[in-house]
Amino acid sequence: MQQLMNIELYRQVLTKYWGFTSFKPLQEDIIKSVAEGKDTLGLMPTGGGKSITFQVPAIAREGICLVITPLIALMKDQVNRLNTLEIKSVAIHSGMSGEEIDIALDNCIYGDYKFLYISPERISTRIFQARLQRLNLNLVAVDEAHCISQWGYDFRPSYLKIVTIRDYISEKVPFLALTASATPQVTEDIMKKLAFKEKNVLRTSFDRKNISYLIRKVEDKGTYLIKALHKAKGSGIVYVRSRKRSKELAELMVANGISADFYHAGLPVELRDKKQSAWSTGEIRVIVATSAFGMGIDKAEVRFVIHYDIPDSIESYFQESGRAGRDDKPAYALLLYSPSDKRHLEDSLRKKFPPVEKIKDIYEALCNYLQVPYGSGKDNVYDFNMYDLVSKYKLPVIETYNSLTFLQREGYIEFTEEINNPSRVHFIVGRDDLYKFQVANESFDGFIKLLLRSYTGMFTEFVTINEETLAKKSALSRDSVYRFLMRLSALNIIRYIPGKKVALVIFTEERLVRKALKISPENYLHVKEKYIMRLNKMIDYADFNTRCRAVTLLDYFGEESDRCGICDVCRERNELDLSKYEFDLILEEIKDILAGQKPDAQELVSKINYPEEKVIKVLRWLLDHNKIVMDDRHLLTWKEPDLFSR
Ligand code: ADP
Ligand code: MG
Repeated sequence: MQQLMNIELYRQVLTKYWGFTSFKPLQEDIIKSVAEGKDTLGLMPTGGGKSITFQVPAIAREGICLVITPLIALMKDQVNRLNTLEIKSVAIHSGMSGEEIDIALDNCIYGDYKFLYISPERISTRIFQARLQRLNLNLVAVDEAHCISQWGYDFRPSYLKIVTIRDYISEKVPFLALTASATPQVTEDIMKKLAFKEKNVLRTSFDRKNISYLIRKVEDKGTYLIKALHKAKGSGIVYVRSRKRSKELAELMVANGISADFYHAGLPVELRDKKQSAWSTGEIRVIVATSAFGMGIDKAEVRFVIHYDIPDSIESYFQESGRAGRDDKPAYALLLYSPSDKRHLEDSLRKKFPPVEKIKDIYEALCNYLQVPYGSGKDNVYDFNMYDLVSKYKLPVIETYNSLTFLQREGYIEFTEEINNPSRVHFIVGRDDLYKFQVANESFDGFIKLLLRSYTGMFTEFVTINEETLAKKSALSRDSVYRFLMRLSALNIIRYIPGKKVALVIFTEERLVRKALKISPENYLHVKEKYIMRLNKMIDYADFNTRCRAVTLLDYFGEESDRCGICDVCRERNELDLSKYEFDLILEEIKDILAGQKPDAQELVSKINYPEEKVIKVLRWLLDHNKIVMDDRHLLTWKEPDLFSR
């Protein structure tokens, strides 16, 4: 009975704040599980509605919910969204000053805040841990929980610190881990690393029945792509591996009369936002992008996702192609594949794993660039422009980026994506003192009044301001607004943090001498092995053409399913005029026989107790698809795809 009433309460929260009338599949189960105080791992595909599963129960109950999420931009986005729904929320991340973090945390302890978002690298800081036990926590939500697993494709070492939160809080507070991407191994790892009291996984099917997975083996991808885009309806994404190619392909499309634009992480944030929204609103039909495109996109009517280059893992492939057809209408995911792709992958493998000595070079270059003395720098946060570093020390971009990743993996540094931090102001004098100041300093009076008229809350916390807006309102120049703010700051009337757009590097250890710098096998060799394993799985996926695509993908995530009927493999098989059941039966028999011997075609057919014409159909199909090869003596062998590094 209690249970029922609770769910009713949660549904009311959902409707009151979001206007949705019912929960999506699994949302309710996750919420129930959390409400019972159980540690829970929720697996749902991207767009499945994971955020609601921690937001609704946290609102419905007393206390505050701690949310750990890796990307600062998305964190700020969610906090803004909650605040517009009048749910008090705050974020702390490395882009904030210590003072701002202090205030934010105090507000969480004394104010009626419902959500505290924190980026993982802030968890181990003293300032956070000291406050943690005084927070009235109702839930700890770990978003993108696969980042905790060394075996996952997006490991972040700071995620391993999350479990230390348990030392400071009541054991009654449940943990809710969420991810869209977890193989069985990663699933286990998440529960272990978060010290779940009991294993508890809730998952929806990852089956996307409306997506037709297609692979085309083509040499001339450009021509094929243009043809495909002319035929395709609606809007879509074309994923490529290089920034340069994103631009080239978009130009090729435009030259062929296709509405297109390109997108990659090397573009300024505003431009990226502009391109993304032009695509979202349908102004641009096709966006050609690197994998940087996707986080936080919320467009339902995407008719196709095309991979021009093969991704380096099934996880990435599935996540990216899963952006198609969120409206549940038919959509397709096309992978263009050519034999030379394997060479490109080998190439990227080399770049992905620079030699250890190279990684050390880059560490030293970084320390020199940031002027970090030996033995110091621990917990310092630095603004960081990688392109500046790269050009100053003449370093190769990709290797540098990847070396930094290894330094992060090893726990020496953390770095963030580029974030857009607006300007902020906080009054450090009370209203009375401010008034006295205004009387004594007439020249500031007008400007202070302007500030007070334009924003509220500045006496209790840092408030986001915009110099441009202030200038427009007051007929001052932007420059004089800035000068006023700087002077008030120098006079200790306000704290002013000018806005900026930067990536950050945080030193999690003091600077070490080269000799002391270790890149351990767990963080390098083993990672490389796993990477190659994932790569090979991806190549398998592209090479094999006898198994339903959807079945293969789902199997990778530990899910059984029926043949989809709409992927390229299923379609071709449909044309064979055999049922899936018959086809698979004959296929298995052929496979068994070829495992032990090398018969010729006639011998093989005679060994199988099935109508001859059907067996021949299957055999011909297997030969056509290079699954079986015939040598010059007409003997048959099962052909395993030739993969590297096996
Ligand atoms: P995920 O984190 O799983 O990728 P999100 O939490 O970002 O997904 O939610 C994806 C979209 O689904 C959002 O636009 C959200 O508003 C919407 N959504 C979530 N729950 C519901 C619901 N119960 N009914 C309708 N829409 C929902
Ligand atoms: Mg999410």
